[in-house]
Amino acid sequence: MRLVSDSYVRRARGLAVAMCGAQPLRRVVVGLSVVSRPKAVVATLLLIAAGLAFTAIFHTPQRDSSGQSFASGVGVSATAADVLTTNSVDRDRNFASRVLHPSVTGVLPLDAKGLAALNDSLRVGSDDTFSLLLHAVAVYGPTACVSSPACGGEVGLTELALDSDLSARHFGGFRALCKTRYGARFPLVHKTLAHVEVGAEAHPGQALAVLAASGADLATPLSLPGGESGELRLVLDDLLANFSLDGELYWDAVALSLLLPPAQTNWTNKFAQSFSFDDLANELIARPETASACLGIHRLISLTVLYRADRERPILTEAARGRVSETLALAVQRLCSSQAEDGSWSYRWSQEAAKQVSQFAVSLPEDPMWHVVATGHHLEWLVLLPPELAPPTSVYRRAGSWLYNRLMQQIDDREWAKKLYCPVSHAVRCLNVLNAGDRLNPDRL
Ligand SMILES: [Zn+2]
Ligand SMILES: [Zn+2]
Repeated sequence: MRLVSDSYVRRARGLAVAMCGAQPLRRVVVGLSVVSRPKAVVATLLLIAAGLAFTAIFHTPQRDSSGQSFASGVGVSATAADVLTTNSVDRDRNFASRVLHPSVTGVLPLDAKGLAALNDSLRVGSDDTFSLLLHAVAVYGPTACVSSPACGGEVGLTELALDSDLSARHFGGFRALCKTRYGARFPLVHKTLAHVEVGAEAHPGQALAVLAASGADLATPLSLPGGESGELRLVLDDLLANFSLDGELYWDAVALSLLLPPAQTNWTNKFAQSFSFDDLANELIARPETASACLGIHRLISLTVLYRADRERPILTEAARGRVSETLALAVQRLCSSQAEDGSWSYRWSQEAAKQVSQFAVSLPEDPMWHVVATGHHLEWLVLLPPELAPPTSVYRRAGSWLYNRLMQQIDDREWAKKLYCPVSHAVRCLNVLNAGDRLNPDRL
């Protein structure tokens, strides 16, 4: 005979799960349905207290950076089967390319030879890091190659990302792709423990975001360690299982916006916590302007991709959509008023960014590097803005012209381009868009 009502058990279970996120506790609370109500109440409270203590000690709901199997707290993780995976969902294969199709194109005709020289200055070599190669994919597209003596010839940049054994050969033993408990993952550079890992991505979600942006879909084949085969959805499964709103979210946000919709708009992590695109948008909006890399601009890039994904297929509520749009409109307004006479932006595009930079670069407040970082990165999200948010065309023209002339001054300095590969590659990609409207996409580098 049941002495405790079903609704009580449901509420108690919900409370325990919400507070503890622990699978075994859920089972115990369900078992309370056969004991008396007072005992059940006391037992539930004790369980919740124990769960909280256990959670505080063992849970770290963030991704580890090693890329190896993640074991966070014995017995408290949901099993892989409990975590929502992406296996059975139909996908819209062209969704990512529609989301990332530039809205502002062909507004700045550039000298063809000069632009070709800039593109050429971004050639990659066999000793470049995985993160640098990912930037090259963003510029040249998925068919670009790099010479790899260790692999016996040229190899495709995306192949290196998608084939674990190949990446281990190319990167001197370091695997750019590993298996995890919930799928697969591109290991992340650990800034303090191993910052020289050539085969690691520099930001969580970077490789998945770049691959998705360059046309890879969830069925793209993967070759895991030991030749085991899989699909790119395994990387997304791992991201979802380990997802939290903490940490460096910006590339994860891009990957999720490109790969989940339209079929899926909510996800659940291994702690049984559920998330929606509204949660993601609210978190990105709430973060300080300078929270992300590259003068805080990746936050705006992520919000723009999210906004564009929502325009393709609604994934936000009206309220969240309004907040994203307001945030972007405010940033556009600020950029219009902070654009320098010469067309560039510096770290002074935002007072917060200016404060942060001047803290560690007091002696170099006007280093042109900051102008290249700010102008190239800002153009990246500005070219995606739909008409209702876009600034006047003259803003793009002036920024693009300054960027082109600035980069051409340094065109013979290969060391400079290599050292500043990230900002220069973002800039050159945007110049190609402003010039011709299309992503540069040659067969070979
Ligand atoms: Zn950046
Ligand atoms: Zn970058």
